[in-house]
Parts: sequence; C-alpha cells; structure tokens
Amino acid sequence: MSIEIRNLHFTYGEGTPFRKEALRNVNLEIRTGEFIGLMGHTGSGKSTLIQQVNGLLKPTAGEIRIHGKDIHSKGASLKDIRQEVGLVFQYPEHQLFEMSVYKDVAFGPTNMGLSKDEIHSRVVDALDRVGLGEDMQEASPFELSGGQKRRVAIAGVLAMRPKILILDEPTAGLDPKGRDEILGEIGRIHGKGDMTVILVSHSMEDIANHVERIIVMDKGEVRMDGPPKQVFQEVEHLEAMGLGVPQVTYLAKALEAKGCGLEGTVTTVEEA
Ligand code: ADP
Repeated sequence: MSIEIRNLHFTYGEGTPFRKEALRNVNLEIRTGEFIGLMGHTGSGKSTLIQQVNGLLKPTAGEIRIHGKDIHSKGASLKDIRQEVGLVFQYPEHQLFEMSVYKDVAFGPTNMGLSKDEIHSRVVDALDRVGLGEDMQEASPFELSGGQKRRVAIAGVLAMRPKILILDEPTAGLDPKGRDEILGEIGRIHGKGDMTVILVSHSMEDIANHVERIIVMDKGEVRMDGPPKQVFQEVEHLEAMGLGVPQVTYLAKALEAKGCGLEGTVTTVEEA
C-alpha cells in the first residue's frame, strides 16, 4: 500500500479564536501506482490533506502511513518522507531561482548529496519526462513560457525520484493548450513505472479525463471515492457539494461515449 490514512483529523489554530477544523475523520487507502484525482470546491480540505501526506503538517489526531511506515512515529525521518512524497505546489514556477534550467532541476538531487554523474542522469531523465529536450538545459528559466516553466518545476521534483507525486492544481493559470500539455505529460509520467500520482484540482474536466479514481472532499471529509464514470453519475451528491450540474452531466456523457471508466462502485458518505 502506498498511502494509508486512518481517522485523520486536523485543526488549524487549535486553542485560538481562529480555530478551524480542516479535516474530519479522513480514512483512505491508496495503492502503489494508482492515479488519483482529488477534487472538491475551495476550502474543502484538499491542500491540508496533501500537506499531511508529505509531513508538512502534523495530524491533530490519527495516523498516516507511507509504504507501511507511520510518518510521525519515533525514528521516522520527515526528510526521507519528503523525498518519497514529491509535492508540486500551486504555481511552482514561482520557486524557480537558478540561472539555468539544468541548475534548477539539479537543486534537489544536489542537496541529497548524490554524485555528479547521478545528478546529471537524473536531470536529463527528469527533463525528458516532462517533454523538455537537452537543448533547454542552458536556457534561463525566466525566458520560458508559463507552461514550460511549470514543467521545469515539475522536473525538479521528479529528479528527487519520489515514489509518490502530488500535484496541487497543476493547470492553474494556464491557457487551454498549456493545460492539455501539462495534463498529457502528467499522464505519461504516471504511465511509465509504478509511481503513485495524486492530481489535486477543482476542475472536474481536468480530473475526469485523466485519472483512474476520484476522491471528492467536502467540508474536510471524504465524501465520494470511485472510478470517474461512476462518480460523475452521482449528480445529486455532487450538486449538494456545490459542484456544477451541467458540467457533471456533460462529463458523464463524454466518459460514457469514450467507453472509459473502469468497472467498480463508488462509495458515498453522507455529511456527518
Ligand atoms: P482546499 O485546498 O480544498 O481549497 P484547504 O485545505 O486550503 O482547502 O482549506 C481547508 C479549510 O482550512 C478552509 O476552511 C480554510 O479556510 C482553512 N485553512 C486553510 N489554511 C489555513 C490556515 N493556514 N489557517 C487557518 N485556516 C486555514
């Protein structure tokens, strides 16, 4: 099992007047190699959940296991966890700072203390995985298009060779062409090898067309979990969570027409 989450609760600002319960009793099992879409409207708890998974936030209660290891147990190293769980933040290009694409992608592996040869092979491989050729290595990241910058940022995370890749709203702010390109690259990254990929998005369209399993969050809880085709048939549940009905109906039809959608059932949980 790649990720196991048991009875997870998280509250921001516990003990202050600004206390905000962001996650309530989340239970999830994600198998190695799954391609997951994490969906839900703004404020539903998606970002909080993914920051729990790579140890940036510590649970108020509950347990998170990555490949069987409780990440907050004595002896667990959060540094190791963060190498295993690569997190691509929203607008990751804002974190590019080196003079060349090569140096930017090499930053993570260099900090891991790897040999020059190993760093080189990881940089070349990571750039290749996001569709950037060797001719881009010496370019300044600041000369690139928005979509290219984002790919460099994703390559920087891939170069750490994470076993789990989490992308928070990777298409935010891109035009439709850039959006399709990035989603295509993410699909290809997932297709090669057995990396677990979690794509976080409030765009149902981005998610519907790419992932194998959708988890829908609402008010800090996991409310639906299942294959895309089945999830988009639960129109009433999605509507109750403020997720647009015309778009859901259209996506359900599109998925049906493509004959896509794995067999399986969707688990729905009523609001507590
Ligand atoms: P999403 O990623 O789905 O938009 P978040 O995980 O960012 O949702 O937010 C979940 C809830 O936690 C929201 O009510 C949000 O206002 C609150 N929240 C998020 N970050 C903080 C923070 N740093 N301090 C206090 N409350 C926060």
